[in-house]
Amino acid sequence: MFSNCSRQFASQLKRFNSTLVIAEHNNESLLPITQNAITAAKKLGGDVSVLVAGTKCGPASEVLSKTGGLSKVLVAESEIFKGFTAESLTPLVLNAQKQFNYTHIVAGASAFGKALLPRIAAKLDVSPVSDVIAIKSPDTFVRTIYAGNAIQTLTAKDPIKVLTVRGTNFEPAALEGGSAGTETLSTEGCQNDLTVFISQELSKSDRPDLTSAKVVVSGGRGLKSGENFKLLYDLADKLNAAVGASRAAVDAGYVPNDLQVGQTGKIVAPDLYIAVGISGAIQHLAGMKDSKTIVAINKDPEAPIFQVADYGLVADLFKAVPELTQKL
Ligand SMILES: Cc1cc2nc3c(=O)[nH]c(=O)nc-3n(C[C@H](O)[C@H](O)[C@H](O)COP(=O)(O)OP(=O)(O)OC[C@H]3O[C@@H](n4cnc5c(N)ncnc54)[C@H](O)[C@@H]3O)c2cc1C
Repeated sequence: MFSNCSRQFASQLKRFNSTLVIAEHNNESLLPITQNAITAAKKLGGDVSVLVAGTKCGPASEVLSKTGGLSKVLVAESEIFKGFTAESLTPLVLNAQKQFNYTHIVAGASAFGKALLPRIAAKLDVSPVSDVIAIKSPDTFVRTIYAGNAIQTLTAKDPIKVLTVRGTNFEPAALEGGSAGTETLSTEGCQNDLTVFISQELSKSDRPDLTSAKVVVSGGRGLKSGENFKLLYDLADKLNAAVGASRAAVDAGYVPNDLQVGQTGKIVAPDLYIAVGISGAIQHLAGMKDSKTIVAINKDPEAPIFQVADYGLVADLFKAVPELTQKL
């Protein structure tokens, strides 16, 4: 009788969901996508814990311990995690999984999450579910496929669900109202000889972050040179906007590749997206078509960008953009 009860209790416990969110941060502060991933995790139901791994990540974990709706903040500090390489973080996440038996592991669908989660899924022998845009239930997810051209709803049958979630589809969780306890996680086995982090160069900008800006002004090959992007920077200054670019503009060397929007760049969904001298190839649309209002400036009335634009201006950008900036 007693053992029947405890078996029943154990099976009930098993049904409870518990999710681990892998925080993306720079030791000092969280990157906004972590807040979106937390919101997605909360939609799964059950406990939500967050893992913060870094070198001196006290400030980032402090912010999380105040974030509402979290039950625990797991912290791992070591020089091993310099550069946040997937090779060093995978064994750490596996340590956490072994100890706490999560039903879900979630990260943002950023370069960080895309490098880390497939590796974790492989080690756990489950299929990762990438680019989740909505959560229907703890095992049924909506995700984009074919570069955002089709939407798939799937039920994952694996015992542990490993998900990357699109930041633009989940509201950022408020970083207040919580008092989660902090726990140190063992870094045993995290040292690896697969990769050595040497250095990184981060571009500094006073402009809003491209993925979280409310307004984005993007330029394409139509700009014709890097110098001409000044036209877009002037317009962006008036609108407090971030500047983005098409891959053609990046490949031509007009702007650095962290500005690239699209299938192989960043996914953005601002309130206002202004595409200047961009044709609107599907790979570009994959990164911006969820923007609330799309404005296109292009001299070719047949350019495909006009099919997704709410407002289109058929004009020479070298005339139209300075005029617009001046009027603003
Ligand atoms: C696997 C793969 C992944 C890719 N990933 C991405 C991605 O992430 N992001 C991305 O953007 N692309 C991506 N691409 C590339 C994509 O297919 C297109 O080649 C690219 O988006 C084109 O960039 P563009 O619109 O700037 O250039 P173009 O297609 O050359 O268009 C330039 C536009 O500027 C207009 N124009 C020219 N002069 C003026 C003027 N004076 N005034 C106004 N308009 C003017 C033209 O009418 C034209 O429409 C990818 C491609 C592949 C195969």
